[in-house]
Amino acid sequence: MRKITKIYIHHSALPRDKGIDEIRELHIGRGFDDIGYHFVIDQDGKVWAGRPIDEEGAHVKSDNKESIGICVCGNCEEEPPLKSQIEALEELVLDLCEKLGKLQILGHLDYPDSDTQCPGNYLYQHLSKLRNKVNAL
Ligand SMILES: [Zn+2]
Repeated sequence: MRKITKIYIHHSALPRDKGIDEIRELHIGRGFDDIGYHFVIDQDGKVWAGRPIDEEGAHVKSDNKESIGICVCGNCEEEPPLKSQIEALEELVLDLCEKLGKLQILGHLDYPDSDTQCPGNYLYQHLSKLRNKVNAL
């Protein structure tokens, strides 16, 4: 198992009904071996496993080595994530932190060199609450 210290949260920046298959297709089209994210949360709040977590992902420039990438379907710069998606995200993050130890919770845009609005303001604003829940574990 590789060393994992952080989780990056992303949005798909696609219409919310586009799920893991569409994202995988896009990523493979970019030349990745597989989808770059480890988990995808679809429009129903269902969690899909992407790349296995013991494999390095492809979701943040130069910071994939010790991180897990979770993608929430939808464009959260334009519209808020659904309650079911936020609940699924919380459950997934807390579950990962219970298994792997407390991880740092970041939005894609927190990576210093990233020129992105990902995961969108509507999703980003949930992350401080998520951090508090991780800290309370
Ligand atoms: Zn992102």
